[in-house]
Amino acid sequence: MSIGDLSINLATVRPQYTMAQAVDACLAQGITAIAPWRDQVQTTGLKEAASIVRTNNMRVTGLCRGGMFPATDKAGLAAAIDDNKRAIDEAAAIQADCLVLVVGGLPKGSKNLPAAREMVADGLAAILPYARENRMPLAIEPLHPMYAADRACINTLEQALDVCDLLGDGVGVAIDMYHVWWDPKLYAQIARAGASGRIFAHHICDWLVPTRDLLLDRGMMGDGIIDLRAIRVAMEKAGYRGPQEVEIFSSENWWKRPGEEVLATCAERFLATCHLQEKSAKGE
Ligand code: ZN
Repeated sequence: MSIGDLSINLATVRPQYTMAQAVDACLAQGITAIAPWRDQVQTTGLKEAASIVRTNNMRVTGLCRGGMFPATDKAGLAAAIDDNKRAIDEAAAIQADCLVLVVGGLPKGSKNLPAAREMVADGLAAILPYARENRMPLAIEPLHPMYAADRACINTLEQALDVCDLLGDGVGVAIDMYHVWWDPKLYAQIARAGASGRIFAHHICDWLVPTRDLLLDRGMMGDGIIDLRAIRVAMEKAGYRGPQEVEIFSSENWWKRPGEEVLATCAERFLATCHLQEKSAKGE
């Protein structure tokens, strides 16, 4: 196991590179997997994006992102469902492993969190048949509870897996360390997710102390307090052996550095601080 198990979420180098430039820069470091965002794919053009992936033989560990279901009225929810179907088409076109879903928070003016969660379940149920038809796994990403109002009202792995159990096949979870590291039920829920074959993606970065901005101050692996190695061991024990995808939003640090330096640091820290399968096989 090696650098081949590393994927770069292209938000990590968003200000530095277009999608095409990011792929070239990743390949220059021996990194062969990426996860683009929809706006990056759209700016590139869907056909061109698909061709970049194909000709460079890149693995796409996910397309970010669908979701954002809760709306103030039925028309709003219907529009979100349509948009998610387009996201499924885009994910299929670039041969993504999954479509990552950030499910959405409270609609404007609402304080009704249970209703928002119901709309998320309705939205997911509405797009799931289309996702299954297109063989595109849907990965619900639970977000840290600090985002419950504005980004995602699914906030723990347990909550996401409960929704998955209601929906059946074709839906699972993207486990992002930044969002779940604090959860007292994390290890039990990783085991549960693995047992039901629902781990579709593993996002990594670090939690800085102090965190200066709740959205844009994610840390590089090794600079914070998340036990990335222990959590990865648990995920592999649960049966997940997919790539680890670095996803860092860092407006004051990594986004200001040369892309080459950022990618080289991702590779170096991945090898130094994240659990690698080879070691585990030997150690067991
Ligand atoms: Zn993520």
